[in-house]
Amino acid sequence: MTQNIPNYKDSKIAIIGAGPSGLMAAEVLSNAGYAPIVFDAKPSAGRKFLQAGRGGLNLTHSEDFSVFCSRYFEAQHSMQKALNIFSPDNMREWAKSLGFETFVGSSGKVYPLNKKAAPLLRTWIQKLKANNTKFKMNYNFIGFSKDVWKFQTPDGVEQFKFDVVILALGGASWPQLGSTGEWTKTLKEKGLNISELRPANMGFNVNHSKVFKDKFSRTPLKNVQLSFSDINDNHHSKLGELLVTEFGIEGNLIYAHSKYIRELLELKTPTIVYLDLFVHTSESKLRELLSAQRGKQSLSAFWKRLGLDGVRASLLREVLDNNELNKPDLVAKTLKNYPLTLESCRPLQEAISTAGGLKFDNLDDNLMLKDFTGVFCVGEMLDWEAQTGGYLLTGVMAQGKQAALGILKYLQKNHDKDLTDGSL
Ligand SMILES: Cc1cc2nc3c(=O)[nH]c(=O)nc-3n(C[C@H](O)[C@H](O)[C@H](O)COP(=O)(O)OP(=O)(O)OC[C@H]3O[C@@H](n4cnc5c(N)ncnc54)[C@H](O)[C@@H]3O)c2cc1C
Repeated sequence: MTQNIPNYKDSKIAIIGAGPSGLMAAEVLSNAGYAPIVFDAKPSAGRKFLQAGRGGLNLTHSEDFSVFCSRYFEAQHSMQKALNIFSPDNMREWAKSLGFETFVGSSGKVYPLNKKAAPLLRTWIQKLKANNTKFKMNYNFIGFSKDVWKFQTPDGVEQFKFDVVILALGGASWPQLGSTGEWTKTLKEKGLNISELRPANMGFNVNHSKVFKDKFSRTPLKNVQLSFSDINDNHHSKLGELLVTEFGIEGNLIYAHSKYIRELLELKTPTIVYLDLFVHTSESKLRELLSAQRGKQSLSAFWKRLGLDGVRASLLREVLDNNELNKPDLVAKTLKNYPLTLESCRPLQEAISTAGGLKFDNLDDNLMLKDFTGVFCVGEMLDWEAQTGGYLLTGVMAQGKQAALGILKYLQKNHDKDLTDGSL
């Protein structure tokens, strides 16, 4: 007589959060023959991923792998295991496996050829569904006790039991896309160690005059060199582009340094960073040009002839008074070392990504909670940050894969134990 042995591949696996980290976990698990259920509070999956597509969908970066790994700041060590199993090259192979070739842009960033997220996401989800992944949308996870998981749905609260759960709930930037950071309350109540969620890759507030703001909001400031020293006295200096906004300043150049500037602001407000507004002209040359006789020309007309007008000239007027503006030495010095006073970070809701989150010391090597066996956590909800450049998507998807592989081992181990114990 054949015994009816339960198939361990029938294990109930829930993935809560249908962002790229959760979807990658679903892919690995469904490829291994499981049928994970993906829950999300929103009516559709991958809303932030789609938003990333509006900027061209920078999937990863082509730089040397060791340099790539160093982009995760203090979390490099914790991220390394994930990146070893899902590297930037694997990201490109993955996109290709879905039918989307990638290319390396001039800055080394990697994009899909069409630079769009929607077709890629659509194909990915179709493939997951065809491979036994189920989706439950409009299921807002509100808590768990013992082995019961609760969701608020449009029809009221629903409860489930699962064998394994992955939490892939994201950070708290752009909350309108689904990641609200509400999970921090739930997990804190469980005694888990969570560092405060803070903005990463964000703009900064500057007290520019109303006249300046009204005139120059949304004006790019090209070819400027940003310099400052971080809290450890390491000097940073980089050429790039900023965008003047109605509140202050944003853009890739400042995003790339936003972690260090946020840390300075956490210690002391305001914080001053310096801009070289005339990178191709030395201070002595500027002094010489500014010292020339201007005759009856107005100061503005004279400056304009030297290429000093628009946003640059108005920035000068923000920090120097009329008397000072007529001193060539001071003007030249200020143009080469312009003090930009940053008052505070823009709010987390506006940031591209989130710093802080569930600390790695809550988790084992497979991203399973040490205090809650069978519960894994992945993605931007964990306590790491990275600058823009494809490091975010690569990091979250790598962790999705890491946790899913951990689950395969975990379920196999439990199954083997049950067989040995004779409980199957
Ligand atoms: C404007 C913008 C542009 C970006 N561009 C890029 C880029 O080009 N390259 C790059 O690498 N990164 C980019 N990013 C960052 C990248 O999109 C994120 O790092 C990534 O989406 C995080 O993945 P995740 O799976 O961890 O979380 P998310 O994508 O945030 O997904 C989390 C999911 O969990 C769901 N959820 C949250 N709470 C609950 C709950 N209680 N119950 C049920 N479901 C819940 C949410 O609805 C969401 O679907 C960009 C981000 C923004 C905002």
